[in-house]
Amino acid sequence: MEGKTQKTCRFCQGKGKDPFELLSALSTCQVCAGRGVIEVKEPSRECVFCGGSGVYPNTRLTCTVCNGKGFVTVPEKSVICSSCGGTGAEFESGLPCLQCGGLGVCRAETRKGR
Ligand SMILES: [Zn+2]
Ligand SMILES: [Zn+2]
Ligand SMILES: [Zn+2]
Repeated sequence: MEGKTQKTCRFCQGKGKDPFELLSALSTCQVCAGRGVIEVKEPSRECVFCGGSGVYPNTRLTCTVCNGKGFVTVPEKSVICSSCGGTGAEFESGLPCLQCGGLGVCRAETRKGR
């Protein structure tokens, strides 16, 4: 029960159909299996890498960071990723940031003192 939220599938925008009709116009959405909704573990937030669209930028593929859901689960105590500045993408390559995995945030250091 605890820790999961149902959200509208961003890849198909809740329609349950493949938005790009790659195989056929009747193809079901591969992200939500045609249900139109997906489940995300909390704490969740919109995927910064694809802007919550579920689509890998400039492609017709599912976003590799959120797997097409448009939402990602982030660490409970998180800080803005210093490597990508919170965009989730590497500046030069445009690939998902290696440090945060494209989340835009990293687990906050829990170490105390120095
Ligand atoms: Zn879907
Ligand atoms: Zn994404
Ligand atoms: Zn990063």
